[in-house]
Amino acid sequence: MSQENWYGLKVGIEIHQQLDTEEKLFCRCPTESSEDARLEIKRYLRLKRSEMGEEDRAAKEEVERKKKFLYKYYDSTCLVEADEEPPTEINREALRIAIQVAKMLKMTILDEIHVMRKIVIDGSNTTGFQRTALVALDGEIEVKGEKIGIATLCLEEEACRKVEEGEGVTVYSLDRLGIPLIEIGTKADIKTPEIAKETAKKIGMILRSTRKVKRGIGTIRQDVNISIKGGARVEIKGVQELDLIDKVVEYEVLRQLNLLKIREELQKRNAQVLEKIFDVTEIFTNTKSKILRGKTVKAILLKNFAGIVGTEIQPGRRLGSEFADIARAFGLGGIFHTDELPAYGITSEEVEMLKKAVGANESDAVVIAAGDPHRAERALRRIIERAKYCSIGVPEETRKANEDGTTSYLRPLPGSARMYPETDVPPVLSYEFLDVEIPELIEERAKRYAKLLPEDLAFEIADSKHYRLFEEFSSSIQPTIVARVLHVIPTELRRENLNVDSLKEEHFRMVLEMIRNGEIAKEGADNALRILIEKPFASKKELKELIGSKKDLDSFIQKLIEEKRDLIAEKGESAFKPLMGLVMSEFRGKVDGKIIAEKLRDAILRKVKELRPQNS
Ligand SMILES: [Zn+2]
Repeated sequence: MSQENWYGLKVGIEIHQQLDTEEKLFCRCPTESSEDARLEIKRYLRLKRSEMGEEDRAAKEEVERKKKFLYKYYDSTCLVEADEEPPTEINREALRIAIQVAKMLKMTILDEIHVMRKIVIDGSNTTGFQRTALVALDGEIEVKGEKIGIATLCLEEEACRKVEEGEGVTVYSLDRLGIPLIEIGTKADIKTPEIAKETAKKIGMILRSTRKVKRGIGTIRQDVNISIKGGARVEIKGVQELDLIDKVVEYEVLRQLNLLKIREELQKRNAQVLEKIFDVTEIFTNTKSKILRGKTVKAILLKNFAGIVGTEIQPGRRLGSEFADIARAFGLGGIFHTDELPAYGITSEEVEMLKKAVGANESDAVVIAAGDPHRAERALRRIIERAKYCSIGVPEETRKANEDGTTSYLRPLPGSARMYPETDVPPVLSYEFLDVEIPELIEERAKRYAKLLPEDLAFEIADSKHYRLFEEFSSSIQPTIVARVLHVIPTELRRENLNVDSLKEEHFRMVLEMIRNGEIAKEGADNALRILIEKPFASKKELKELIGSKKDLDSFIQKLIEEKRDLIAEKGESAFKPLMGLVMSEFRGKVDGKIIAEKLRDAILRKVKELRPQNS
């Protein structure tokens, strides 16, 4: 679809990338994740008025949810994360990386870098604010021939990791709090879903070119700001999959268009939302619905809304889903509405009684919520507000990305007066970093490698942590073989769920050297890497021997399994013991018993599966 067809779409992307520094941003703790918490700290959210004297609407809603926060504390965290001690100076290593990225994005770097406090209201920071420093402004990148402006680059502290969310309580882990994070915000120059995705990809590539960013799930997150003509600005949080960005944008356009259609229909019908909240607990005293039974049930009446609450606004999501999101944000399980009833154990008699109790007729809709009476009351109060807004248009809000590309309501869009100076941390003058140089971009490196490798593989190798080994060995070993060792084989081993991340630079170097020196055949590389995953401290000599015996072992086991198939058919997995004896008598002292046991067990399990009748 061309630019004009996207309904005046404007998209800005915010990218958050964790940095792979030794220490955190404002304390000297490591940036690795931890296990085994030492203790838990309990906090409530208190609402502070901003210096302007106004209450933030998002903060107000969070307080109304009356949530309690628990924080997991580790040996690898300190009193700074717990907000019991002031922060240290800003981490210079992190600032250096931030300035390097700013230069790559052709931005103007600020002379003085000041740390500010940005109010955070979801408990994800023990202090109630996030420390953030604006480093650079106003840059530009080119994406598929379009110029996309870069508005800001900030260096900030990562929030806590959310471990658990229950009714009225959220549990956070302090290990992630304070990891340095670069936040890059583009201008709202993006006009199609595809360019949105490509922009995020390009910025990700630029960040990885520094070789100083963390990798893996959760280490990079994209927030997407979206609006269309006649709609509203919506911020979608936490898109983790790059390949989902275009879909998220498309679905949000669809949602806003459908909300505008709903507005038109409601205006035509002269729809009204009643302020009153009805207590309808009595109707459901003996209900078959497990969700309602034994709970307080409250209801609201939406006049002339019949059919509207059940209208689909995104694939698999209805207007009612938006109301349910609000209920969940207030700690309830969700809502029911008459467009979807009778169902879920609620009978048509109960629906009739419900309608009668609130004075609803055929053209109306009724929404019910069950649970703690105060929570239900507060949630329905908010749903009344939301339902009223259906006749006005699309509300500005913060939403969260779901795995299928749809989104759910999270909270109102926060107000803008949310920053104030952090007086505990002194500012830094950026001329300290005049010597920072721009590294080679991964895509530039990929172009060089494409002379030696297929294009896709060239990019993978250029993007790899071990690209330097490729440069070192591709003159003495065939480049495709080097690429196989560094990327193709590890990818295959990863699919077998082997711990490929335990392979370090020295392991790849060892295998490449042995291939170069003719100590192992290039076909042996696969086995060599498998062995190094199991035995990371193996020497070249041991590795050579193991490759030899491993091959013998595999074929010995295979032959044995075939010979003893009747035994396996009869005894199943308990054929392991007698067969293990046979293998051990042959390989004792040559191969680690643990490896033999694993291989034999796998082979028996495969055989058992194979012998099992298909239709059972
Ligand atoms: Zn610390």
